[in-house]
Amino acid sequence: MAEFTLELNDDQKQVRDWLHGFAADVIRPAASEWDEREETPWPVIQEAAKVGIYSLDFYAQQFFDPTGLGIPMALEELFWGDAGIALSIVGTGLAAVGVLANGTEEQIGTWIPQMYGDVDDVKVAAFCSSEPDAGSDVASMRTRAVYDQAKDEWVLNGTKTWATNGGIAGVHVVVAVVDAELGSKGHASFIVPPNTPGLSQGQKFKKHGIRASHTAEVVLEDVRVPGHCLLGGKEKLDQRLARARESAASGGERVKNAAMATFEASRPAVGAMAVGTARAAYEVALDYAKTRTQFGRPIIDNQGVAFQLADMRTQIDAARPLVWRASWMATTGKPFTSAEGSMSKLYASETAKKVTAQAVQILGGNGFTREYPVERMHRDAAIYTIFEGTSEIQRLVIARTLSGMPIR
Ligand SMILES: Cc1cc2nc3c(=O)[nH]c(=O)nc-3n(C[C@H](O)[C@H](O)[C@H](O)COP(=O)(O)OP(=O)(O)OC[C@H]3O[C@@H](n4cnc5c(N)ncnc54)[C@H](O)[C@@H]3O)c2cc1C
Repeated sequence: MAEFTLELNDDQKQVRDWLHGFAADVIRPAASEWDEREETPWPVIQEAAKVGIYSLDFYAQQFFDPTGLGIPMALEELFWGDAGIALSIVGTGLAAVGVLANGTEEQIGTWIPQMYGDVDDVKVAAFCSSEPDAGSDVASMRTRAVYDQAKDEWVLNGTKTWATNGGIAGVHVVVAVVDAELGSKGHASFIVPPNTPGLSQGQKFKKHGIRASHTAEVVLEDVRVPGHCLLGGKEKLDQRLARARESAASGGERVKNAAMATFEASRPAVGAMAVGTARAAYEVALDYAKTRTQFGRPIIDNQGVAFQLADMRTQIDAARPLVWRASWMATTGKPFTSAEGSMSKLYASETAKKVTAQAVQILGGNGFTREYPVERMHRDAAIYTIFEGTSEIQRLVIARTLSGMPIR
């Protein structure tokens, strides 16, 4: 088992520098254009595929890095380039992790490669859990999956919302209710293969930030998928449901909110994205403060500006080890006894919001215009305290974990 270290090894440093080069040379120069267009940057995804960054192999290599630092290091660099484009590149990973976490080996081998497509014909995938009335409160989910035994098919009906890549994806991973009595324990995940009749894109959202990333509703009307598309398989599902019913009948364990439990290990990834955006904005602000002259001296000569930069950098440097610790814990199977995954996401995302706002302030009027990237970074950073569980939900999870109390 890998010991925790803050020192990247030589291989990791090489990958980090390579990713940084791609972020600086390909992602950052394209950021403003795709933010304005509010469209998926297919040519950039294809470039990432050509050099091997948008690929199952690359993702798996980072995911299985025994130190746990592969994913946070990669995400920080890509999101340093631009959050919207980077999310378009890594959004497929969310669906892939859904299959990795719950799928059989055969399902992993069949579906994950299809999610990425190939270099000449890149595809994206979507993970669809949230619904109009079930955001933080995942247990309120209404999308139903009913088993048609005669045909060995599942029939899905419902409306998903806020799905990254929803409707433009080839493979959609859809979470649905199979037993409404059991709350979030009665949910199961399904693969909806490309071109399945009945799945359509609803509204595409016009957003405040990460505008190069496609976010949309996904409508499911009598969507029939073969039995083998149930992630983990029917036998495992039946066993899991039986255990949950037994536990509910004996008045045992409370049905937990799946948003609080399932995502603990994946939340540091959002923390790493936030660190990337925060670092990018800080660097722009530092350069600007050293070169912008007012009252006959660089503005950084004023403590009021310099101290802001000192705080910005301190908070970024505090956020990163929290993210790395949680990623290391997830990879090495350490229990999250203090909700360390949620802690890392909470601190890093709040830091990104704060630091990008300070960067706008340090750039003055220029910070408020689209001529400078901090305006976009500030809009982008707002997402980190919302998706994969809002900051309030992170605090709820941390407080409940620490206290053991049903804090509401
Ligand atoms: C750009 C974008 C991309 C997304 N991508 C995906 C995706 O790919 N797949 C997917 O399934 N989902 C996705 N989401 C959905 C995202 O995870 C949800 O928006 C998020 O979980 C919050 O849910 P909600 O929007 O319904 O807010 P609500 O749950 O309605 O919350 C509204 C406010 O109330 C607060 N609140 C709610 N409950 C409590 C409580 N118990 N205590 C204190 N405060 C509370 C919240 O913190 C928040 O401030 C995405 C969202 C966005 C905006």
